[in-house]
Amino acid sequence: MSDTIERIKCLIIGSGPAGYTAAIYAARADLKPVMFTGMQMGGQLTTTTEVDNYPGYPKGTDGTAMMDDFKNQAERFGTDVRFGMITKVDFSDEVGGIHKVTVDESKEIEAETVIISTGATAKYLGLESEQRLIGGGVSACATCDGFFYKGQDVIVVGAGDTAAEEATYLSNICKSVTMLVRRDEMRASKAMQKRVQNTPNLKVLFNTELDEIIGDNVVDGVRVVNNQTQKKHEIAVTGVFIAIGHKPNTELFKGVLDMNETGYLITKGKSTKTNLPGVFAAGDVQDHEYRQAVTAAGTGCMAALDSERYLGALL
Ligand code: NDP
Repeated sequence: MSDTIERIKCLIIGSGPAGYTAAIYAARADLKPVMFTGMQMGGQLTTTTEVDNYPGYPKGTDGTAMMDDFKNQAERFGTDVRFGMITKVDFSDEVGGIHKVTVDESKEIEAETVIISTGATAKYLGLESEQRLIGGGVSACATCDGFFYKGQDVIVVGAGDTAAEEATYLSNICKSVTMLVRRDEMRASKAMQKRVQNTPNLKVLFNTELDEIIGDNVVDGVRVVNNQTQKKHEIAVTGVFIAIGHKPNTELFKGVLDMNETGYLITKGKSTKTNLPGVFAAGDVQDHEYRQAVTAAGTGCMAALDSERYLGALL
């Protein structure tokens, strides 16, 4: 049985900017990387319409097209990109140990190094109208999409640091920003709350939840409900930003790799090293703070260099 198991030098799990950048560097270093893309090939960026803040695209680009470019570049140097999910891991805790993974609950693969770039998933409320209008006025990323709402009225749902940060960011671009906060206070840090209070075109509605997003193909407005009085009213907006947190895609690594209390993988110092030798983490799966395509790509590069150095030290 064991002679049928595929053995590789470098396994990359996840196909966002971190994964593909790791692949480009690992392939050029002759680590012959094999990437498993996960179900959402290209990652979170494929849910964005336009990417205007990635250096090297002076006219901006489409998120999906950009990830195709990443993929083509990774394949040009020999990355073996495969559509599939890693469904089980059995990592070694020894230096030079072999890490075993299972693909799609059936095929086993053994890898000398593993780069985890499974990303994070934005949380949504789950309303039918919200899901239908993603890309048509509903977004979970103000830094990515805020620019398209220049001079317009938008709402932000959420009350944590992300929501406060996105709302103040949008207030510089948009005519007005309304934050919907479900409790009578915000979770965001005091400093962020102060910034929110001091922003003139930013209004906070407490005890208020999103009841419905109005619009067929694009957002025309929202209906909100005061959860104390149950009174509903409509607000005319063209953009709805959902900022109720992200969930790192780390279920698979629970009990295996060190993670913080919200599930983000912990990397050592300025490196991409996890607590297990030969297992590295890059991109949003280990970064809840910056979460940009360009920062993810940067850590992807670091993970490939860390893998190369790890393997080099074993020789
Ligand atoms: P958080 O989990 O901190 O906050 C999520 C917010 O969304 C909460 O206010 C929560 O409300 C609200 N929420 C959740 N579900 C719903 C719902 N169904 N309807 C309405 N509101 C909802 O996530 P963040 O992304 O804001 O932050 C994650 C971590 O990252 C935090 O530790 C944060 O401090 C950190 N961070 C730090 C930044 C910085 O330092 N610059 C910037 C951004 C994030 P409720 O309060 O009622 O539970």
